[in-house]
Amino acid sequence: MKSMHSIDINTVEMTLDIMKYAINRISNTEPELGAPKKEEDLLKIVGETVTKEGIGGENAFHLFKDVLAKATVPVDHPRHLAFVPAAPTRAAILFDLVTSAASIHGAYWMTGGGGIFCENQAMKWLVSLTGLPDGAFGVFTSGGTSANLSAMTAAREAWRDKNEENKAFKALLITSSGAHSSVKSMAKVIDADIILIDDDEEDRLTGKWLQKAIDDLSEIDRKRLFAVVATGGTTNAGIIDELDTVAEICKKEELWFHVDAAYGGGALAAPSVRHLFKGIEKADSITIDPHKWMFSPYDCGAVIYKDLELAKNAHSQKGSYLDIFKDEGAQGFNPADYQIQLTRRLRGLPLWFSLAMHGTEKYTEAIERGLFLAQSAAKKIEAIDHLELVREPSLSCVLFRRKGWSPDDYRDWTYANHKSGLALVTPTKWTKYGESETISRFCFINPDTTEEDIDNILASMK
Ligand SMILES: *Cc1c(COP(=O)(O)O)cnc(C)c1O
Repeated sequence: MKSMHSIDINTVEMTLDIMKYAINRISNTEPELGAPKKEEDLLKIVGETVTKEGIGGENAFHLFKDVLAKATVPVDHPRHLAFVPAAPTRAAILFDLVTSAASIHGAYWMTGGGGIFCENQAMKWLVSLTGLPDGAFGVFTSGGTSANLSAMTAAREAWRDKNEENKAFKALLITSSGAHSSVKSMAKVIDADIILIDDDEEDRLTGKWLQKAIDDLSEIDRKRLFAVVATGGTTNAGIIDELDTVAEICKKEELWFHVDAAYGGGALAAPSVRHLFKGIEKADSITIDPHKWMFSPYDCGAVIYKDLELAKNAHSQKGSYLDIFKDEGAQGFNPADYQIQLTRRLRGLPLWFSLAMHGTEKYTEAIERGLFLAQSAAKKIEAIDHLELVREPSLSCVLFRRKGWSPDDYRDWTYANHKSGLALVTPTKWTKYGESETISRFCFINPDTTEEDIDNILASMK
């Protein structure tokens, strides 16, 4: 009897169909800007797909390709400028297929050695961009959220280990109001309280404001405080906190200094803005998402530590069947020891292949292109009477307003452009001195976005 794992003519045909689809999709630089449908409407079209006998590969694939994939918005579309879009390189996507096919368990060197070697080569480059001292290293995670969680857990454990008394306290961390939502939600996961401090005039967290916040703490809260999370490129506006002065205060106050550069981290490879990150080299840990501005497919985040041992203390899993990994020959770098996940995909492998193929200079070029597009968009906005910059662009984010528009106008404009297939540009909120305003926002990642694309989108804001 034929089993699920046997290979016959049908599986060969299906393989070819799927590879053909993958090749077409990978080479398509302007995929249709699909739109989501309601779940019940999708169900009406495709019916139940998981049944006792199965609906057949051809049928399932057809439903995916012709119906379901079209109910998604491709993030690599050159005029998808909403949220933080993505633009994985073709090399990286192809190697994502290889990563699946190679069936490598990426938790331990014993089984994943050669693949982990590749990941570590890519990681070496990431670490070199940060300027952290020798000995610093990191691992690839499922994204910025799990990287932040891994770092915050390491920080909390290091703080508890420092002083027996700390074990009795609920931990407390400080971050800024511009910090990503994942910092706030991961604080819940580690059961830590969080204080959001307001930024300065330039909407940044600075050492001065941090010191003031620490000085204002009650005696008990000061004892509970274990870490500061600064942002290296806020998701909404691309703002980089004043990392250098924040680092100084953290050192003086003996606090763990984490920099969340999930979105902005790519810009560490861009000489034109690298100086804005001054101080990141003093961090205890850093988050960078290669699936955002380093052209990796989903999902790929990274967490980097100044002192790997502190991460290991927090994350290394002990289990009797894991003891074998202590043997000679099986010894090497074990990614499972430095983040929250045990069994893991070698999610750094696509980044490695793309880096190895293209070289790091091509990365610098592609990231500089996003920065250029932001500057170019800003000039175009300033040249149009009814448009106005909300602030100068930071990194590749541009915040601007259409004078006289209400939140409903922004929403209707977004829907109309999405529907016509022109672009996906969503509104956002900008808060200054407690006043919140609905505005428009571009985030440039894709080097294939053209200046003409920007002109056309701005022209639609009549
Ligand atoms: C996107 C982002 C995150 C979350 O990363 P995921 O990969 O979506 O989990 C965290 N911090 C910042 C600053 C981000 O931009």
